[in-house]
Amino acid sequence: MNRSENMRAIRSTDTLPEMAVRSLVHKLGYRFRLHRQDLPGKPDLVFPARRKVIFVHGCFWHAHACKTGLIPKTNRDFWLPKLRRNKARDKKNLEALTQQGWDALVIWQCELKNGSAVRGRVKRFLGPQRSPRE
Ligand SMILES: [Zn+2]
Repeated sequence: MNRSENMRAIRSTDTLPEMAVRSLVHKLGYRFRLHRQDLPGKPDLVFPARRKVIFVHGCFWHAHACKTGLIPKTNRDFWLPKLRRNKARDKKNLEALTQQGWDALVIWQCELKNGSAVRGRVKRFLGPQRSPRE
């Protein structure tokens, strides 16, 4: 694989964790909207009534401190600034959301291996469900 093929492959699998989280949150009975363009960072799941958002981050692209998030040894000059920029942008978006009164939860791709832990985090973050009409 050359670099651009490799990048495409990574990007396309990047949406799988997001779909897993959507389905998990949906099964818990919470309602949400997707990718609100007007919010910093276009959060993956948006809960307008609770003023909360969830981001699902691929460990590689968002430079998570885990095995998948390690910066490749080859082409470091290419990856290092790129991944640092991604990380800095994530931080800025979270700060902007907080300033606008939104609470944000970040779920990492690697955490999805433990579905019950993620469910627990989501429930703690979103709190009890209210009436079905909400
Ligand atoms: Zn990770």
